[in-house]
Amino acid sequence: MPFSESSALRARQALAGIWLAVILSLFHDPWSPVLTAPDSPVGPLALEAHHCVTVQNHCTHSHSYPIGAPVFWGLLLPLLIAVLFLFGHELWRRVCPLSFFSQLGRSLDRLRRRRPWSRSGTVPAQVKAPRVAADSWLGRHHLSLQFGLFYVALCGRILFVNSQRLSLALFMLAFIVAAAVVGFLYDGKSWCQYICPVAPVEAFYTGPRGLFGSRAHVKPDPSVKVSQSMCRTVASPGAPEKSACVACKTNCIDIDAEKTYWLTLMQPDRQRLYYGYAGLVLAYFAYYFLYSGSWAYYFSGLWSHEADQHAHLLDSGFAVGLGLVVGGHTLILPKLLAVPLVLGGGALAGYGLGRLAEALAARRLIRAERPLGREQLRHRCFTLTTFTIFNVFFVFGGYNLRALLPTPIASYIPVLLCGLSALWLHRTWHRHPDDYSREVMAQRQRGRQARPAAAPAQSSPSPGQTPPAKNQPAKTPPAKTPVAQVRFAIGPDGRA
Ligand code: SF4
Repeated sequence: MPFSESSALRARQALAGIWLAVILSLFHDPWSPVLTAPDSPVGPLALEAHHCVTVQNHCTHSHSYPIGAPVFWGLLLPLLIAVLFLFGHELWRRVCPLSFFSQLGRSLDRLRRRRPWSRSGTVPAQVKAPRVAADSWLGRHHLSLQFGLFYVALCGRILFVNSQRLSLALFMLAFIVAAAVVGFLYDGKSWCQYICPVAPVEAFYTGPRGLFGSRAHVKPDPSVKVSQSMCRTVASPGAPEKSACVACKTNCIDIDAEKTYWLTLMQPDRQRLYYGYAGLVLAYFAYYFLYSGSWAYYFSGLWSHEADQHAHLLDSGFAVGLGLVVGGHTLILPKLLAVPLVLGGGALAGYGLGRLAEALAARRLIRAERPLGREQLRHRCFTLTTFTIFNVFFVFGGYNLRALLPTPIASYIPVLLCGLSALWLHRTWHRHPDDYSREVMAQRQRGRQARPAAAPAQSSPSPGQTPPAKNQPAKTPPAKTPVAQVRFAIGPDGRA
């Protein structure tokens, strides 16, 4: 999805502006409740008078409410998932409003600088903004940390911010401040790469490539040096874009998502992410049923605008008959404990079942004498998981607003998304790391053929260069690691 950096910057700024407007509306919005009043003549949001939703056997009536939170959860968030899946992480990473805030330090040239000293301890080396070291704790465990933060945020969402507008506004502002602070402290896209809880979600839905995503390793114009969502700069309007990469991450997803996918495919934390995320999503939606005793609570959207969310924190976290049964007794757990338990249990169960399914599939294929390589099997399990969770997400996600559309349109949206995801599945299912490697080699070959004939081998030495001594064999430049060997660079422990 190639588009210019100036367009991307404008989109980032516009989305950041819209997001700030949504946050402001969460602090003060005396206007939009008019739209949801039972007798409202405007729009489809008007509540049905006297309609109630049963929650734990109690009839709960809705009152007119401001629409900031329901629009954020029901429209903006599902849109993000659809964009990630269809266009890959690259489009979102270039327009993400949170990345706009995290890059403020870089754009204002106010990054923290560190002056490392040369080994002799006398000559100050070049002043540099620090980067997260690949061998630091954060460098090695960032994916687990990000997934953990995502879990905490999801629990916090059900408990504190789904419908409490002030909490939601503070929650969002905390994210913005955290992103900006990390952006001032560390160079590159350190926030996106190492901390942002949405990054694992981006990796999950993108897979090797979004349905309409670009291929970084097959460039129509090899002279273009920037790819996908790589950090870039443009000196003046119309000038070619130049890389602004400071190598803040090895195997950066922003430079070549598919290469990163194959290189990290066999890593244990990827497996935890894929199956754990699937379990977490299923548990998240299931919890609304467990809590209220029916699906009406979720599908009515009451959870996004109920007036007293915090008042229920210590009430029972499960509807009658749906609690945890231990030793023949139903445990009465407050919602405050039930939510982390159900979501954490879902993530663990998802991980366990995913591993089990992968092992059973391997055994079955061996018995049927159709063994697949470990990488291919893992890839297909991941692909199937992403396809399933994407479609489950759109059965639930955004329903509260989708249901307001005229009948055929409301039902066509999930059907359309299911069709597109089937196309993605078809294209991704047979993909193999060797396909990627072959395409890289072919692209290199094309690049070499397109290059003009090389200048005579013996060039005169440039000033300051020592001419090679007589009878000394000419030095050949060190061979680059062939990208064709990308898959073989994965160690037995699954680490690249
Ligand atoms: S392109 Fe370079 S600077 Fe940007 S996120 Fe990737 S590694 Fe970091």
